Amino acid sequence: MNLILLGPPGAGKGTQAQKLAAKHGLVQLSTGDMLRAAVSAGTEIGRKADAVMKSGGLVSDEIVIGIISERIEQPDCAKGFILDGFPRTLQQADALGSLLAAKGKALDAVIEFRVDDQILVSRIETRARETLAAGGKVRADDNAEALKTRLMAYYRETSPLIGYYHAYRKLCPIDGMAAIDQVAQEIETVLTGVKNATIATGTKG
Ligand code: AMP
Repeated sequence: MNLILLGPPGAGKGTQAQKLAAKHGLVQLSTGDMLRAAVSAGTEIGRKADAVMKSGGLVSDEIVIGIISERIEQPDCAKGFILDGFPRTLQQADALGSLLAAKGKALDAVIEFRVDDQILVSRIETRARETLAAGGKVRADDNAEALKTRLMAYYRETSPLIGYYHAYRKLCPIDGMAAIDQVAQEIETVLTGVKNATIATGTKG
């Protein structure tokens, strides 16, 4: 099963992606994690992405499409993957469609996390506090200024994907404001519906 988790920063996509990966044996592909790893490793991509990530802006389509294109070729993705934080622009979505078609793969569902903006800000502040309390390092873009830019990038560049995937009949909205386990349950219900529809129509995901 190949899934996209779509939603603004702080919506809980990463948490749910981890749960889904553990439960269904899918690979979690987070472009944010991959880019942070590149920044830490000091690779050329990392050097290009560093400043724009700190400011909360979007890294170029070319870079992230290149990363994902290489990654989904890997054998561990054959069983299925969860895209967390990709695609974020219409150009990325089109590129993903072409990539999947070229590899004979299909997209099963786009899970859209519906959330309340006001609560996002406090969620991200809580995440930063908890990470610090646990002795971890807080993300450079988990601050009020960068968050504002990240939210604007979401509404300007990423939210058109809601209409895009709706038009492709792939969009499955869920209530991202519920408790973590409840959100997980809602996603399971969506996936069961998708699997049943696939069996009923005889299409392969
Ligand atoms: P995330 O961990 O998904 O919140 O991503 C952190 C940051 O990485 C974003 O604010 C962007 O700067 C960059 N990033 C991650 N994924 C993408 C993407 N698909 N397109 C462009 N920039 C991205």
